[in-house]
Amino acid sequence: MPSTLPRETKVVIVGGGVVGNSIAYHLTRLGWEGVVLLEQNELAGGTTWHAAGLIGRLRTTNSMTRINKYSAELYAGLEKETGHSVGWKQVGSLIVARSQDRMIQLQRTAAMSEWFDVEVQLVSPEVALEKWPLLRIDDVLGAAWLPHDGKLIPKELAIALAKGAQSRGAQVLEHVRVRDVLLEKGRVAGVATEQGNIAAEYVVLAGGMWTRELGLRCGVSLPLYPVEHHYVVSEPIPGAFDELPVGRDPDLCIYFRGEGDAVLLGAFQNFSKPWMVEQIPPAFSYQLLEPDWEKFAEPLANGKHRIPALERCKFAKFVNGPESFTPDNNFILGEAPGIQNLYVAAGFNSVGIASAGGAGKYLAEWMQEGEPTLDLWSVDIRRFGPGFNNRAFLRERVTEVLGLHYQMAWPNREFETGRGLFKSPLHDRLAAQGACFGAKNGWERPNWFARGGVRPSAEYSFARQNWFACHAAEHRATREAVAIFDQSGFSKFIFYGRNSTAVLQRLCGNNVDVPCGQAVYTGLFNDSGGFESDLTVIRLAELEYLIVTGTTQTIRDADWLNRRVHPEENAVLVDITRSLSVIGVMGPNSRTLLSRVTDANLGNEAFPFRHSQVINLGMATVRAVRITYVGELGWELQVPVDQASLVYDTLMAAGQDLGLTNAGHYAINSLRLEKGYRAWGADISPDDTPLEAGLAFAIDWKKPFLGKPALLEQKARGLKRRLVTFVLDDAEPILWGSEPICRDGRPVGYTTSAAYGHTLGRSVAMGYVNADALIDDAFILGGHYEINLAGRRYPAQAFLRPPYDPERRRILA
Ligand SMILES: Cc1cc2nc3c(=O)[nH]c(=O)nc-3n(C[C@H](O)[C@H](O)[C@H](O)COP(=O)(O)OP(=O)(O)OC[C@H]3O[C@@H](n4cnc5c(N)ncnc54)[C@H](O)[C@@H]3O)c2cc1C
Repeated sequence: MPSTLPRETKVVIVGGGVVGNSIAYHLTRLGWEGVVLLEQNELAGGTTWHAAGLIGRLRTTNSMTRINKYSAELYAGLEKETGHSVGWKQVGSLIVARSQDRMIQLQRTAAMSEWFDVEVQLVSPEVALEKWPLLRIDDVLGAAWLPHDGKLIPKELAIALAKGAQSRGAQVLEHVRVRDVLLEKGRVAGVATEQGNIAAEYVVLAGGMWTRELGLRCGVSLPLYPVEHHYVVSEPIPGAFDELPVGRDPDLCIYFRGEGDAVLLGAFQNFSKPWMVEQIPPAFSYQLLEPDWEKFAEPLANGKHRIPALERCKFAKFVNGPESFTPDNNFILGEAPGIQNLYVAAGFNSVGIASAGGAGKYLAEWMQEGEPTLDLWSVDIRRFGPGFNNRAFLRERVTEVLGLHYQMAWPNREFETGRGLFKSPLHDRLAAQGACFGAKNGWERPNWFARGGVRPSAEYSFARQNWFACHAAEHRATREAVAIFDQSGFSKFIFYGRNSTAVLQRLCGNNVDVPCGQAVYTGLFNDSGGFESDLTVIRLAELEYLIVTGTTQTIRDADWLNRRVHPEENAVLVDITRSLSVIGVMGPNSRTLLSRVTDANLGNEAFPFRHSQVINLGMATVRAVRITYVGELGWELQVPVDQASLVYDTLMAAGQDLGLTNAGHYAINSLRLEKGYRAWGADISPDDTPLEAGLAFAIDWKKPFLGKPALLEQKARGLKRRLVTFVLDDAEPILWGSEPICRDGRPVGYTTSAAYGHTLGRSVAMGYVNADALIDDAFILGGHYEINLAGRRYPAQAFLRPPYDPERRRILA
């Protein structure tokens, strides 16, 4: 046992790779004492040591770009701070495009980068050649140049971070293997190592690809799995030098950079190989897997095409390193659901070096504050339920994930592998009706239905995709007749108990102490007044509520609510997502349709808006809830799963002459955007308040609730940002989301979601308009707006109310 192994400490970090060391570095920077890092072998010996060291700043979202930007800035100054060189070189990076679509993608990226404050220049093939003189450019259409990107030596980075942490009191201990995490009454109590136990208030699992197995042993689901990642290093080549920029040719699935007087060539192939091991060997340290020249044949040929000098040289080194990948190509960060003070940072999908600085900083802040200090939903541990941690699923899915870094970032791109994880009882019926499915949180959901000779498979493009006309038909049928939607993936909970009302009243912004049967739309807010969730609460009985929330939010919302029930309170949350299907019947003919199959009175007075009743529907018995997310008369039917197909068949048989059609989630999206309904995770997030999002109407200011003091303060102070709906003037272009918004020629934000509004006959989007000073309605509506679509600006009209008014059937745009 190392003489320094403590018996008790404040925090144990498991794993001495770049991520674990960054967490130790940042916790000590926040002033934490008693930080102990345990590494089973030697520091950086897992995946970190053999990484290629590429440090890019720009990611696809604001939060991830902030993480990477912070990382790059930290690394550039680390030698000065710690005295340990990390080999940082700001060589810049170059992304070449050889297809028109790739050029559009680069233009979209460049447009967003201005808002993210990352310099990106679009340059000609000739300028690309100046930057990288060994390139072949006769098939290159253009390139993006990011002058502030760089590279470093990953092993030295991990050591420098460890030194920084040690200089502030952290203990970094090698050759100590953590066998188990110790738990006590729902919270972490320490770790069991091969050299004895350490009691600890906090434990952080940062064990790279080993973390899944450690998680399984303490009941935490961490879906990650190792994949082989390959690069080679050439022998010296005339004209190669260490300061060559980092080059990427995503169309050819390769990256390259100078390595001394040689060239490093790596691959992000479309399909890669999972490491087929039963258990990851604990002693796998400073080791590689066998070279696989056969698998590397295609990237090698592509490399020789892009850098002809590689044709004539030998290769001195083949690196086949395993690295863990997650089901969605985003890493896993945060506090384990249901376990107090057990934190995780793992599954870094080949960007762990570039992200470690920011990931360490924001995890340390999360531990300090008890909640994230930035919207980290895309990497939040609570986005995955246990169903994702199936090894057969992971082995299949990860083959596709590594290559995603370089695949076209098509709008609405769906995974091809690991599909069919969770299916609604209607799945096969809908497939037979031409459904084209997408997977949301593992749920197979119909996105749209093929008709008019279109095949039920999306053909991706930045312009109109092959389903445009099908989507139009579904959208119009909902506005003009009636459509049926399978929304079974919604998360559903029963919340009951003596104190259930008191707990909900404390946590919900709106008043949920309503008569039985009533449905309430409400936000859940954090201390800063930001949206932790928005959901529908239906009071079923005096002390029982049905809570319906988004498809992706099952674990997150359950964990958030459970953590806020005090030990002395009697209130229990039960996840019934898989017990109830949800079938939406929406459109002006919905009442006529439902009246044909139920004897319940569906009239306005007997069944008002935001009310629910248990009704018979043919031979089935369902809870009908009169709410709408599409802005039309309609009911969401909560149906026991074993009666879903009965209900569907009954409705389909009864509604043919009413124009009844199947409709998918793309129609829901465009319909709700026209009606100005927000989507959590896109338009509203923990960083956005209801005042900024225009949702203050769903707050009951008369009662206390979590987040109210911050909201009252914001209300008194005024706002510097507002969520606005935009409708393009031009009927042709398609907006997908993530397009910069310009006000009077200056970027002020970006679109958080968008779709083609077929009632408006134009693209419709939402996005925040940000300002330096306080703003009001007049400021918003007085601006001249344009949306930047791949570098071209399209005029748009701004709305603070819905651009379509279904009640008066009026288009306001
Ligand atoms: C070939 C290749 C090239 C890459 N190139 C880049 C690049 O250019 N840029 C980039 O950003 N990323 C790159 N990556 C990815 C990057 O290397 C990883 O994302 C990063 O190293 C992950 O760091 P980590 O700390 O999570 O994992 P690791 O470095 O694997 O560290 C985890 C540590 O935890 C220890 N550990 C595990 N379990 C226990 C236990 N029970 N007790 C004690 N210790 C334990 C392990 O021994 C290990 O040292 C590349 C990856 C590969 C494979």
